[in-house]
Amino acid sequence: MSECELLIKCGFFKKYQSTKELACKGFISRYCKGTDMDNCKRKAYRKEHGVAPSDDMMPDGHMIGRVC
Ligand code: SF4
Repeated sequence: MSECELLIKCGFFKKYQSTKELACKGFISRYCKGTDMDNCKRKAYRKEHGVAPSDDMMPDGHMIGRVC
């Protein structure tokens, strides 16, 4: 699979997919459309809690500060 199966319902992706910020673009290409999609902390959170995390939680589990 070349894209995360949660892409269309992922709040992070929806909110930041058009960002020009390199840090965010990097997360998207590495996780949402890349080899680390199965290591995404947002995905793990959803599995553990049964609900989606804040849109501002990044795939590495940190909250977005000023990077994106
Ligand atoms: S942030 Fe995680 S859950 Fe959301 S689309 Fe990217 S890889 Fe999938």
